[in-house]
Amino acid sequence: MSDNGKVKTLEWIEKKIVDFVKNSPENSLKNDENRPAWGTPLVAFARGDDALFSEQKKDIGPFYWTPPELFELAYPELTIADDELAVISWILPQTRLTRQAHRHEKSLPAEAWSRARLYGEQFNELLRSKIVEWLREADIPAVAPLQLPQWQWQESKRYGFASNWSERHTAYIAGLGTFGLSDGLITPAGKAMRCGSVVARLPVAPAERPYTKYNAYCLFYSQGTCGKCIERCPAEAINHSGHDKKRCAAYIGEITSPYVEKSLGEPVSSCGLCQVAIPCEAGIPQQK
Ligand code: SF4
Ligand code: SF4
Repeated sequence: MSDNGKVKTLEWIEKKIVDFVKNSPENSLKNDENRPAWGTPLVAFARGDDALFSEQKKDIGPFYWTPPELFELAYPELTIADDELAVISWILPQTRLTRQAHRHEKSLPAEAWSRARLYGEQFNELLRSKIVEWLREADIPAVAPLQLPQWQWQESKRYGFASNWSERHTAYIAGLGTFGLSDGLITPAGKAMRCGSVVARLPVAPAERPYTKYNAYCLFYSQGTCGKCIERCPAEAINHSGHDKKRCAAYIGEITSPYVEKSLGEPVSSCGLCQVAIPCEAGIPQQK
């Protein structure tokens, strides 16, 4: 494939993703107004041989997948060099109206936020399937890591429970954002978002990351200021040392999930109060 061909293919995928999010009736909060769950997505690419994938594996644990490892699970019959793989990563930003509603809440999630967590994530799942389908129709082998039957949560010695593929860490490697004090990824569209990824046999240049530190955009780490997400957490699961995953999960499991079940009819892992009413809610905060 020529260089022009490569660019066209990546642009083609990006456009398909943006158009699908914009036009699909499934991008919906499924409320009375049928408001969209997500705003305009951000899309970026990393290459399968990016050293950060192996570093991540070393950091999280041997169970964590690199792109070639997960691709081999999906296509054991193919022999593919690591640098022949592209990792397509996207960010689905919460809409302004959902963020506004959630900002008023102090201890329980706004209904729109919980709808985005439930129906918006179902749409994200559909988007993963669609991207794989579009690529396979174009004779490009592709797989969504979270749709592999082997995808699961395990115990990381360093981080407690962790899955064998992280959408947020993948977005970080693709250049879409850096981590904040609360563990959320601060992207150009902010931290109030969900993300996803697909790995495909596709020529791509190495990712261009506009940062060198994993927490460059967070004001707490870069300037020793802010800490607003600490105040937003009703579970005291964020402090100057970072995010206490166990405390966070307990609050969601015991408080917010049963609360959401009453209104939406099923338990939903919805909280994210630490993602709004903060300087990194909808963009990269200004460094002074
Ligand atoms: S609210 Fe402030 S301290 Fe928390 S992640 Fe955002 S920039 Fe960092
Ligand atoms: S998701 Fe909720 S409980 Fe967890 S850290 Fe954020 S505000 Fe706290």
